Amino acid sequence: MSGTVAVIGAGVVGASVAYHLARRGRRDVILLDRNSGPGHGSTGRATGGYRAQYATPVNVRLSLLARDKLRCFEADTGVDPEYRQAGYLWLAATPAELAVLRAAQAVQHAEGLPEAVEVGTDDIARLNPALCLDEVVGGVFCPSDGFLRPTAILAGYLAAAARLGVRLHWGVEATGFGRRRDGMLGTVRTTQGDIDVSAAVNAAGPWAAAVAAWAGVELPVAALRRQVAVTEPFDRLPPDMPMTIFAGDGFHLRVRDGRVLLLWPTPGVIGKPYDDSVEPTWVEAVVAKAHRRVPVLRQAAIDRGACWGGLYEVTPDKHAILGAAPGCPNLFFANGSSGHGVMHAPALGQLLAEIICDGSATTVDVTPLRPTRFAEGAPNPTSELL
Ligand SMILES: Cc1cc2nc3c(=O)[nH]c(=O)nc-3n(C[C@H](O)[C@H](O)[C@H](O)COP(=O)(O)OP(=O)(O)OC[C@H]3O[C@@H](n4cnc5c(N)ncnc54)[C@H](O)[C@@H]3O)c2cc1C
Repeated sequence: MSGTVAVIGAGVVGASVAYHLARRGRRDVILLDRNSGPGHGSTGRATGGYRAQYATPVNVRLSLLARDKLRCFEADTGVDPEYRQAGYLWLAATPAELAVLRAAQAVQHAEGLPEAVEVGTDDIARLNPALCLDEVVGGVFCPSDGFLRPTAILAGYLAAAARLGVRLHWGVEATGFGRRRDGMLGTVRTTQGDIDVSAAVNAAGPWAAAVAAWAGVELPVAALRRQVAVTEPFDRLPPDMPMTIFAGDGFHLRVRDGRVLLLWPTPGVIGKPYDDSVEPTWVEAVVAKAHRRVPVLRQAAIDRGACWGGLYEVTPDKHAILGAAPGCPNLFFANGSSGHGVMHAPALGQLLAEIICDGSATTVDVTPLRPTRFAEGAPNPTSELL
């Protein structure tokens, strides 16, 4: 397929797709975003966790491919992605939660993540001495999980893509598609005029369903608010403390840039999916959990002005949607990472470039991510915890 490829959305996913297309030799790639510069979408709101501890083979494989690519990211792009192996420590409060973590670990071992191990309460106390273990019966830990810098990965892909000839347009909003007589996309309509294309990529993050609808395709990607409470600078927890997650309710914390970030998933604002404000009552509730579970945090003050909210882009089975749109073979989806989009972007960009350039992805079998799986009644199995 030759001709212009327009990538709609210059978050980390769109930037990775554009970079990988250019690396594959595509010389006519346009990356456009309605924002005035990088990082105003979900990518700039991410906390920067990386993990391979997932419950399905495809998600583990995406993480392992991404990890390989993070290791050579600086050589490839000139930017340090700040991948640091601090580990992810998952905590179970009941035997049932532990059983779910163990089942996921069996998948991880089968997919090539032998360093993920089960840990008892003594190990947990050693890995994170700040924890109160009253609610904890056991857990799992993977030392090669850890952290990355979302804005660095975005900046690296944008800069490297531009060097390879990708034309980047900020402040340009895509507004629709023009179809050819054969039903294929012929143009991307934008606020700056029409672009003739041989293909288009939907990388519009939480706004992806609207873009798909222009082609008459129902894309099951919903925006879901995530809030982050931030402490004032606090040095009583170490910077290399593992990401620590209570599997039962998803409360988790990490240290970033000398502050502690507290997260706890809640349903979002009913009827206002794009509301990304921070609710004071939520901050109080997450802080109460933090004080109970990590008592030293009673000494930390919350910096209310630094707290932020952002949007996940969630699919019904919490797995990404990757590949050609049903009924519109030159529109491609790289959507619905369901809150894992930064860590998986290096893999998703490469795999979608394989699909566009070669007709299918070969590095990882992405059949479980095919856009048609929901209509087929064959979504991926989801776990309550992972
Ligand atoms: C609080 C929080 C914490 C998170 N933590 C993590 C984490 O630890 N690890 C992780 O991997 N992920 C995390 N995520 C998820 C991660 O941020 C997303 O999965 C990822 O950023 C998605 O990238 P994207 O490029 O698809 O979307 P975005 O970064 O949102 O980019 C989409 C872009 O599309 C543009 N756009 C939309 N519509 C149009 C249009 N019509 N025309 C032109 N441009 C358009 C938007 O302006 C936007 O810039 C977190 C998210 C939140 C909110």
